[in-house]
Amino acid sequence: CGIVGYIGTQAASGILLEGLRKLEYRGYDSAGIATVLEGEIHCVRAKGKLHNLEEKLAGEENPARIGIAHTRWATHGKPEEYNAHPHTDTANRIAVIQNGIIENYRDLREALKARGVAFRSDTDTEVIPHLIAEALAELRNQESSPTPYSPLPTPFLEAVRLVVNRLEGAFAIAVISADYPDELIVARQQAPVVIGFGQGEFYCASDTPAIVPYTRAVLTLDNGELARMTPLGVEVYSFEGQRLKKTPRTLNWNP
Ligand code: GLU
Repeated sequence: CGIVGYIGTQAASGILLEGLRKLEYRGYDSAGIATVLEGEIHCVRAKGKLHNLEEKLAGEENPARIGIAHTRWATHGKPEEYNAHPHTDTANRIAVIQNGIIENYRDLREALKARGVAFRSDTDTEVIPHLIAEALAELRNQESSPTPYSPLPTPFLEAVRLVVNRLEGAFAIAVISADYPDELIVARQQAPVVIGFGQGEFYCASDTPAIVPYTRAVLTLDNGELARMTPLGVEVYSFEGQRLKKTPRTLNWNP
């Protein structure tokens, strides 16, 4: 229901929690956060109020400069910690948060199960990290071939692009990977995503209140667009893989 992401120079977790608090008005039943810490995905989730998540994080030193966070309004699977976002792939290298619904998740889930993937939640979301892991593995195989196929700047971005093209429904996602710690990928299909531009730091969210405390320079993704956020900037692409020229506008905001 609520999506927040950060990449930049500061510790991410405080900014992410503050962002979730600003999106509380949307309603939620659980919450969670994932960062890339010392080369690993570090994921903490809790059922119920944000306070429960904060309690779990209390006393934790987390200097990670990239992360994603989510408040969930359950549509598929009970509001329990194991269904809370972020969801990860089996190897715990990829973390995903999602708003909305993946309409064709049953088919995707059955196909993944047939290929040996064990699911740990009842959500429609969990197919996404598993599919991205598969796509990445395939792209890495091709890289070692004599004619590597690499239309986009990084395999991580290309893997996410391939996977969003297979998802049906109204959704917004944000994805991080322990193997690509300088990239945060967001994608939009009928569910809002805004990206905030700071100085060497960038924010994404499902709604502007999570971003305006930090910057008023905001870019709105349109349907069928994904963005690669790095500490150096933001690149926007169509789901077809075409680079798009988009620039942020300045928000007028009277809190
Ligand atoms: N469909 C997803 C789930 O049930 C996401 C719901 C949301 O937008 O919070 O976990």
